[in-house]
Amino acid sequence: MKLLNGQQPLVGLVGWRGMVGSVLMDRMQAEGDFALIEPLFFSTSNAGGKAPAQAKSETVLKDAFDVDALKKCDIVITAQGGDYTSEVFPKLRAAGWNGHWIDAASTLRMKDDAVIILDPVNLPVIRSALGRGGRNWIGGNCTVSCMLMGVGALYKAGLVEWMTSMTYQAASGGGAQHMRELLTQFGTLNAEVRPLLDDPKSAILEIDRKVLSRQQSLSADETANFGVPLGGSLIPWIDKDLGLDKQPGEAGWGTSREEWKAGAETNKILGQGPGFGTAATPVDGFCVRVGAMRCHSQALTFKLTKDVPLTDIEHLIASDNEWVKVVPNNKEATIRELTPVAVTGTLGIPVGRIRQLAMGPQYLGAFTIGDQLLWGAAEPLRRMLRILLEA
Ligand code: NAP
Repeated sequence: MKLLNGQQPLVGLVGWRGMVGSVLMDRMQAEGDFALIEPLFFSTSNAGGKAPAQAKSETVLKDAFDVDALKKCDIVITAQGGDYTSEVFPKLRAAGWNGHWIDAASTLRMKDDAVIILDPVNLPVIRSALGRGGRNWIGGNCTVSCMLMGVGALYKAGLVEWMTSMTYQAASGGGAQHMRELLTQFGTLNAEVRPLLDDPKSAILEIDRKVLSRQQSLSADETANFGVPLGGSLIPWIDKDLGLDKQPGEAGWGTSREEWKAGAETNKILGQGPGFGTAATPVDGFCVRVGAMRCHSQALTFKLTKDVPLTDIEHLIASDNEWVKVVPNNKEATIRELTPVAVTGTLGIPVGRIRQLAMGPQYLGAFTIGDQLLWGAAEPLRRMLRILLEA
């Protein structure tokens, strides 16, 4: 790539100590990315502090709001969050910065000049934008990216008439503080009934009653991040309430923002829909927060465009990319291989429970899981960095 500075590209890293940022740092370290760049570390809370061990020439943290410091970078990678992007990105571009902005936040995703990056699925879309001088590269919604890594082959083959996704999303999707809150709640609930649990003769309904009573009396501080208890419960709403005043399929038709992203981002990643002058594939469903630590799981229902034998479907899915794996649809394989505990920390995307549904041969069910901090967040960002370095 053409450099603004020096021998190695100067890459600004913002948000590197958050949930996504920490995983990104681990992956960059594991893949040797730091050997190819001159990193410059920024902070919104600790400018002047010590940069992490990967720092080379500059070992002091820069102020992440300092536009002059950011302007020196050839590439900025941020996992700081949407508020940061909203505040800093426009100022940086207005100051004439022409570098590459790689971002985990959703703020810029649907802008016309931004590409949602998921290169195993949409490298042609990325390359085409790069050829046109594209500079804004945005990681997709975690659930959408993991879903497309698993079943993108069905879309690419033109087999999907529509899809619904029912999600089971982990606490870490909200960030570091949300994980801490969930674990603290588990501890609080356990402490409440510990003596009864230790006594095998104690009555289970008494345990149940005490747990419920403690859940219902958790304080505002104890539920500060999720707003309501998540430990031992679930929350069928993720992200903003978009209201009820729009038409079916539009943002604001009784959907949460997370649910709206499923359709909007799936189509944009695939390079289809109104922005591309083609028809969009309807994608809709419900997004639910569950008490898993990491990984977003989802039950998918497809209406296929034609009858396809199940073995062909499995072959299509399994041969799409090197990370997807078809899990046989039996109990033993499913409970061993198709859980957040089995998948967390891996780049593997298992797709299982694949079967034709009772509604007819063109109705297909599947269940897939991905570590939303890897394929759903950090991995596409660092792979975009590599694509730029090799361009
Ligand atoms: P996060 O864990 O809350 O981290 C964001 C920032 O919060 C950090 O960079 C850090 O900034 C600050 N922070 C404050 N207290 C912290 C603590 N105790 N530990 C670590 N950092 C702390 O947020 P995130 O989940 O990484 O999300 C970042 C962006 O990625 C968001 O836009 C999110 O929507 C998006 N995203 C998240 C996921 C996910 O699964 N979590 C998936 C895809 C996309 P300073 O160091 O500057 O203080």
